[in-house]
Amino acid sequence: MTTYTPMMQQYLLVKQDFQDAFLFYRLGDFYELFFEDAIKASQLLEITLTARAGNTDNPIPMCGVPHHSAQGYIETLVAKGFKVAVCEQTEDPKNAKGVVKREVVQVITPGTIMEGKALDGKSNHFIAAAEELSANELAFAYLDVSTGEANTSIIEGSAKELVQQLQAYAIKEVIVTEQLQLLLSDYAETSGIVLSLEKEEMDGIRAENYVAQLPVKLQGVAKRLLQYIERTQMRSLSHIQAFTYTEANSYLRIDTNSKRNLELIQSIRGGDSKGTLLWLLDETVTAMGGRKLKQWMHQPLANKIAIEARQTVVTEFLEEFFLRQELNELLKNVYDLERLAGRVAFGSVGGRDLAQLRESLRQVPMIQQKLIDSGREKCTALGQQLDVCADIEQLLAHAITDHPPISIKEGDVIRDGYNAQLDEYRDASRNGKDWIAQLEQKERELTGIKNLKIGYNRVFGYYIEITKSHLGNTDLARFERKQTLANAERFITEELKEKEALILNAEEQSLALEYNLFVALRDQLKTYIPRVQKLAASISELDVLMSFAAVTDKYRFTKPLFHEGRALKIVEGRHPVVEKMLNKQSYVPNDCILTDDKNMMLITGPNMSGKSTYMRQVALIVVLAQMGCYVPAAEAELPITDQIFTRIGAADDLAAGQSTFMVEMLESQHAITHATKKSLLLFDEIGRGTSTYDGMSLAQAMMEYIHTEIGANTLFSTHYHELTDLEQELERLQNVHVSATEQDGRVVFLHKVKKGAADKSYGVHVAELAEMPQAILQRARVLLAQFEAGHSDKLVPVAQAVELRQPESVVTIPTKVAEDELQLSLFSLSDEPTLSPEQQQVLDTLTKLNVMGTTPMQAMTLLY
Ligand code: ADP
Repeated sequence: MTTYTPMMQQYLLVKQDFQDAFLFYRLGDFYELFFEDAIKASQLLEITLTARAGNTDNPIPMCGVPHHSAQGYIETLVAKGFKVAVCEQTEDPKNAKGVVKREVVQVITPGTIMEGKALDGKSNHFIAAAEELSANELAFAYLDVSTGEANTSIIEGSAKELVQQLQAYAIKEVIVTEQLQLLLSDYAETSGIVLSLEKEEMDGIRAENYVAQLPVKLQGVAKRLLQYIERTQMRSLSHIQAFTYTEANSYLRIDTNSKRNLELIQSIRGGDSKGTLLWLLDETVTAMGGRKLKQWMHQPLANKIAIEARQTVVTEFLEEFFLRQELNELLKNVYDLERLAGRVAFGSVGGRDLAQLRESLRQVPMIQQKLIDSGREKCTALGQQLDVCADIEQLLAHAITDHPPISIKEGDVIRDGYNAQLDEYRDASRNGKDWIAQLEQKERELTGIKNLKIGYNRVFGYYIEITKSHLGNTDLARFERKQTLANAERFITEELKEKEALILNAEEQSLALEYNLFVALRDQLKTYIPRVQKLAASISELDVLMSFAAVTDKYRFTKPLFHEGRALKIVEGRHPVVEKMLNKQSYVPNDCILTDDKNMMLITGPNMSGKSTYMRQVALIVVLAQMGCYVPAAEAELPITDQIFTRIGAADDLAAGQSTFMVEMLESQHAITHATKKSLLLFDEIGRGTSTYDGMSLAQAMMEYIHTEIGANTLFSTHYHELTDLEQELERLQNVHVSATEQDGRVVFLHKVKKGAADKSYGVHVAELAEMPQAILQRARVLLAQFEAGHSDKLVPVAQAVELRQPESVVTIPTKVAEDELQLSLFSLSDEPTLSPEQQQVLDTLTKLNVMGTTPMQAMTLLY
């Protein structure tokens, strides 16, 4: 250590405390990185790697970025999942004895970054913390440093459920215990999420206000998160709000899988949000509104009164088209108040931000007036509740210029009249400039040189410039030479020198004072943060409710009614997203009627007929309704649902074949163990990932269990036709099917849900659609009939029919079929080679096929 220069010693000392971050070490106008940091960063940022002697035998690797463009480099590193510790000079180099004092002033991490591309306006940027409460329970806290929003919840389960939660909220960084760090390390590696350790909790007194509302077992994780944020951000964060904890039974719980299956916020295929319910629903105007909508979708309500309160506002807005339009116009001028408040607290707010805050606040009285003038009960009440923050607006109007620049160090931020001292400095410097202009005029007259001019530059200050062609005929006694240019000379005079000192002094003082005034104003504004946040909450709610009305208008939604019972009645319901995607084709609306006596539905129908769309549409209607929105249906009477569970296979499940059967079982297990009478269960094609007997048995057992033990509203879809017989045994079960019909020898999907089970031979219809040879189709029909007649036990799978080709099994075929069989055998089963070679090849392939060992995907490929 001692062999290093004093500065490098200082660097190494600082670096010791920030091993897990790139240390940006301020050196004059640059941030420099050294050693390993420099090697890695030069690659990541594609900047030149150099070296510095540093008094050792081996040169020290070094690279650097100019301080004025550092932000971009920092964002790049953070976006790649790294942390950056910013080390500033904390004393004026002029006053330093020895090495200038330096300190890290902030560590920017993927979860705490407050600027730049990482922040999408319409999404929260949460950082999370988690710790184990018991073997099967985790405490979870998540906080958005940019807006100050802070929440907690209890996660049932362990690392896997935690990962799902992290994905649901698109979290980039999570504070973990050492044990969780181990459990999550694989996930972190593949997902790029950053795991950070925090050993301490923020101490009791300071943390108390933030965690007071939480159950004791959630306080620890919240305090640990606060500690991490304070340790990295190194400043008071007055905008962070008290942590909230929502009782699980106060909202409609939808587990992460189901949120994905239903494509509420993220589409199944990942990527952008196109095709999700959020995408359809988002007609919000402000970024805050967009975030609020997302929150509401994560946690729809489970309280009739609360839901109806939202509905009433939507109803009023629905009838007040012009009011909505006018309010939207005003909202367009409202900036992101939450993030502005965050920047105020953070101390990173600039002049332009404050102008935006002022512009936003100017809209509020007009918004209030419009709401009150509407004469509508709820709108008026909303308007009256708004805190228009007129005092804050006035303060900003008085203090900040109309168009302040981004930088707060170059003046023009504070308005004239705000501070007497500042006005004086400004007068002096402005008068000085007038005086210079007069001097120029005077010198032109005295010398007779028309193009004589007085200019200014940073290095030489004020000067009088005379072109070379005029120099010869001028008396230069009063002039002192300052600078020589190619075709001119620059001079100064005693008079100009004196005035220059005055002007520059005034300017320097004016800038310094302006900066101080700005900082003081910023501190003063901190006290207003809670009010601005409250206003932001009201505005964002207003925005979302208007968005509900807009969507209702646009897609012809209807108001759902709620009751205390369990019955669910949807008349002419639609899947809003599929409907929108269908473009010109029309969507076929379907009813879903679940009564107290019959609240389970078994849905059969060919592939692609619309079974899963139907199930999803029921769930989406429930979600929309409990968010307080209207729903895509002609009529809806709904119970308050407590939880939604789905087991819906995605296309990639199919492709992956049997390996996902375990996932299917885990999701089913989760649903069955957590569901209550008040839940909604959607099971699509349960048991298809395993062999027929196996799958069918499981499906039947699960249906029986749900029927007798849980009693939840349940929609089941299956391709095991045999299951439809269960209707006779399970009294609350009803069969429905999605109809298909034949037209010109082709299967046409009607997408209409009808009572009763589907026609058994739809598989054959689909084969027909695929232009399978007639001989095979005919043979299949015969076998099907044969199977039905001879094997009425419901657990014998259709697939077995292939193995029933032995002559002795052709015993009890009905007469009509027997004729067909006779005909068929004349052609195909006699020794005569009546099949074409291609047909024979198909038949051979099918005969040799091990149906039990074939995944659905393989079967489809084969069929094709
Ligand atoms: P299944 O689950 O029966 O295989 P899906 O629900 O996936 O079928 O539906 C297949 C396709 O049929 C959908 O992508 C959609 O384009 C169309 N579809 C489904 N339901 C309807 C409907 N009610 N009206 C119009 N088209 C529909």
